[in-house]
Amino acid sequence: MAMASDGLRRVAVFGATGSIGTSALDVIARHPARLRASVLAAGRNVDALVTLCVSHRPDHAVIADPQLLDTLAAALHAAGLGTTPHAGMAALDALAADDDACDTVVAAIVGAAGLDSTLAALRAGKRVLLANKESLVLAGELMLQAARAAGATIVPIDSEHNAIHQCLPADGDCSGVARIVLTASGGPFRGRSRDQLADITPTQAVAHPKWSMGPKISVDSATLMNKGLELIEAHHLFGMPADRLDVLVHPQSLVHSFVEFIDGSTLAQLGLPDMRTALAVGLGYPDRIASGVAGLDLLHHGRLDFEAPDTDAFPCLALARAALVAGGTAPALLNAANEVAVSAFLQGRLRFLAIPALVEHVLAALPAADAASLDVLRDADARARGVATQALTTGTFH
Ligand code: NDP
Ligand code: MG
Repeated sequence: MAMASDGLRRVAVFGATGSIGTSALDVIARHPARLRASVLAAGRNVDALVTLCVSHRPDHAVIADPQLLDTLAAALHAAGLGTTPHAGMAALDALAADDDACDTVVAAIVGAAGLDSTLAALRAGKRVLLANKESLVLAGELMLQAARAAGATIVPIDSEHNAIHQCLPADGDCSGVARIVLTASGGPFRGRSRDQLADITPTQAVAHPKWSMGPKISVDSATLMNKGLELIEAHHLFGMPADRLDVLVHPQSLVHSFVEFIDGSTLAQLGLPDMRTALAVGLGYPDRIASGVAGLDLLHHGRLDFEAPDTDAFPCLALARAALVAGGTAPALLNAANEVAVSAFLQGRLRFLAIPALVEHVLAALPAADAASLDVLRDADARARGVATQALTTGTFH
């Protein structure tokens, strides 16, 4: 991979205004002799994007909504910046692939909207710091194929997968691995029965006890769909079959996952719940660089607890595991239905317990087919969104 003449890694941060994006920029800013944010991209929030451009002085800024190009251009100009403005998803794909623009891409857009730019970066052989788990759930096999074909490096950023990445041999050989165990905080409603979840509000659901994250993944953590998506993510990233992937609830969120080897050894990665650690692993890879996160004082934290997940109160985990086992288009259908359901819940149009019900409805209405191509997967994604939206419109779920 080409390095800039000044020796700096040029990093494109897609989803720069989000929780992961701002954490990535925090780490980048700690290493001015090594890293530079060369492209910053957001969805619609021009003000936040321009504020970041003032601090990080990237070569390019992209706003996904094409109608906001003039607003972005005017704001960059008014701020006296030489940053080139772009708009639209195609601009993201082009910059992801452009060797003059970046050698590293932080894929931190939320939802399936992140798929195309992530694929573009992989096909161009870039180093991809992959936070956008929905793209892997939708099209993991094709993404891994694209990465292999182009010699791209994927560093998983999701804390569990980053932990596993750190525990596995550097050459990625998983032949000695018996089992992977993903830890889960259990979310804000751990220990509650199904009946006690009936009146959960969006404000309660996004208030995660351990992690500070964007609204969509916070709701996914509260339903345990997040851990289900992560099972599918682990299957693709590490080539593990479903029956060698387990989930253990660990409320302190200090052990970020376990890898059990065939000789009886178990390796774990521990650290404070702060995504800057995982991002530093990716930004410095293969070197270790400072992240701003303090080391772990286990005497202070005292204890580490573990318990089995409750799939009766939180059926999304079982739905996702079933989609992983079914394979083909099932994970794409699950992910799309979940995106529609979470968005409706956040808007106050769907009850918390109706999130798994709506996902189940979509999976029952659209049987899984072979995932023969990206077009088939995109079609499954679109049809699942259609069925879910229709069910919301007709009031079948509320
Ligand atoms: P946020 O909601 O905080 O940020 C989302 C980012 O994506 C924002 O920059 C937003 O821009 C941008 N965006 C939204 N829609 C589009 C679009 N259609 N096109 C282009 N950009 C868009 O999310 P998080 O940072 O929490 O999560 C990002 C991804 O990382 C998710 O896939 C999540 O699952 C994953 N992840 C997050 C973790 C966390 O700790 N937050 C942990 C592990 C994984 P704008 O501000 O303009 O809306
Ligand atoms: Mg995670």
